[in-house]
Amino acid sequence: MSERQSIHIDGTWREATSGATRGITDPADAELLAVVAEAGAEEVDAAVAAARRAFDEGPWPGTPAAERAALLRRVADLLQRDRVELGLLESRDAGKTAEEGRTDVDCASDAFRYFAGLVEGEHGGRVVDAGSADVRSEVVHEPVGVCALITPWNYPLLQASWKVAPALAAGNTFVLKPSEITPLTTVALVRLLVEAGLPPGVANVLTGPGDPVGARLSEHPGVDLVSFTGGLASGTAVMRAAAATVKKVALELGGKNPNVVFADSCATEEGFDTAVDQALNAAFIHSGQVCSAGSRLIVEESVSDRFVSELARRASRIRVGRGTADGVECGPLVSEQQRERVEAYVASALAEGAALRSGGARPAPSQDRPAGGYFYLPTVLDQCHRGMRVVREEVFGPVLTVETFRTEDEAVALANDTEYGLAGAVWTADQARARRVAARLRHGTVWINDFHPYLPQAEWGGFGRSGIGRELGPSGLAEYRETKHVYENLAPEPVRWFAG
Ligand code: NAD
Repeated sequence: MSERQSIHIDGTWREATSGATRGITDPADAELLAVVAEAGAEEVDAAVAAARRAFDEGPWPGTPAAERAALLRRVADLLQRDRVELGLLESRDAGKTAEEGRTDVDCASDAFRYFAGLVEGEHGGRVVDAGSADVRSEVVHEPVGVCALITPWNYPLLQASWKVAPALAAGNTFVLKPSEITPLTTVALVRLLVEAGLPPGVANVLTGPGDPVGARLSEHPGVDLVSFTGGLASGTAVMRAAAATVKKVALELGGKNPNVVFADSCATEEGFDTAVDQALNAAFIHSGQVCSAGSRLIVEESVSDRFVSELARRASRIRVGRGTADGVECGPLVSEQQRERVEAYVASALAEGAALRSGGARPAPSQDRPAGGYFYLPTVLDQCHRGMRVVREEVFGPVLTVETFRTEDEAVALANDTEYGLAGAVWTADQARARRVAARLRHGTVWINDFHPYLPQAEWGGFGRSGIGRELGPSGLAEYRETKHVYENLAPEPVRWFAG
């Protein structure tokens, strides 16, 4: 497959002016999947100029909300039309299972439909009582302008959709920059936006590296907002780069997410089985390469031995392999570099006294696991504590650490003892306790007796260093808007503040 013309600027697909390209590989076998254009600073300037023109002079910002909503719905339909193909492409590019790839396509369509419904249901601005019959005062919401949308490699299509859908719903134009290692479904999404009838210049896409493409977008004076999803280090770089032009900045960063299990949730066989099963899901779906992965199991001491034994037994049975192979439950890590990072974390944990209960190694090659793939076994590390790097830092791989507690206060203190604050869960049969603990957790999403579900109509985002702002829900649309107060004096007369 060749996607050499993967740069889209002002309605035209093109290669990089420099002729630079990048090979995109399948993490399951390191084979070449596609060759894409590698944009540079020159393309950033051209794409921002196109988005600027489309915003300042083009029809899109003034297009009635009902028409914008109709276009978003067409995009959702087109995503569904190409569901199987896109799911497969996502699976091969990002290393997830084909089923996960298809689920991502469904979730992406849901986001387009949700934001379509949200803008369609609006009825103009909010009239404010100015305290005088001679004044009409109204607060209105307008698009921010040109948005830079920068996304990571773990959910390429979904993260792009969480930004593109509200940006378009609000009437903005944008330059989208996918991760340089997983750009394929993002390019496909922009092809669908064009097919749905979006005017030229509204949706621009640049395939290329964080530096210079993401960095230049973040500092560019022609960009009004940068919405970034990715790691903490890049997020802080984006914020610094955006500071000079006082852009609006939205950051969705990493997480170190606690999964708190009280013994009472395991009092019945059914409860025990559910809590173990969901702890597995929390930690190992997409090989743990999930910002909200439940990578810290915080389990009540009285059930910890039994819980961790069963968890480790089931973790060691997870079928790791190529995401497109039948029956595979966990795909590879996205790159060799990512696998080496994970290995370094596990080695440091073992050196610091953690006990390995399952995994901790690369699996042997097999028919579904080519020797060149970046596979790593689901790993359970027992006897962990907050002094360990593996407990404090985001590993972003199939590694679950186990800590124990005796009291509710201790459980809450452990769960909040992180610089991140993206998501967390509490498992208990006691509803009053569930609500008490949920109220005390300093995380943007709290699940009670569940892990991972999210809703397009509910805000997603982090406390602390997990980010700034929210995606999804009404706040996810508000991110892409400016608020304006229009004060109209219906009976103007001199003020006479100045006597002369
Ligand atoms: P990353 O920070 O390396 O890259 C993310 C994006 O930023 C890529 O497009 C990259 O090219 C770009 N980038 C890199 N340096 C940049 C710079 N200086 N200026 C501007 N852009 C730059 O992250 P990643 O490794 O692709 O993704 C994994 C991270 O993403 C994890 O930390 C994960 O938790 C986070 N993530 C968060 C959420 C969320 O909703 N909070 C969702 C998915 C992933």
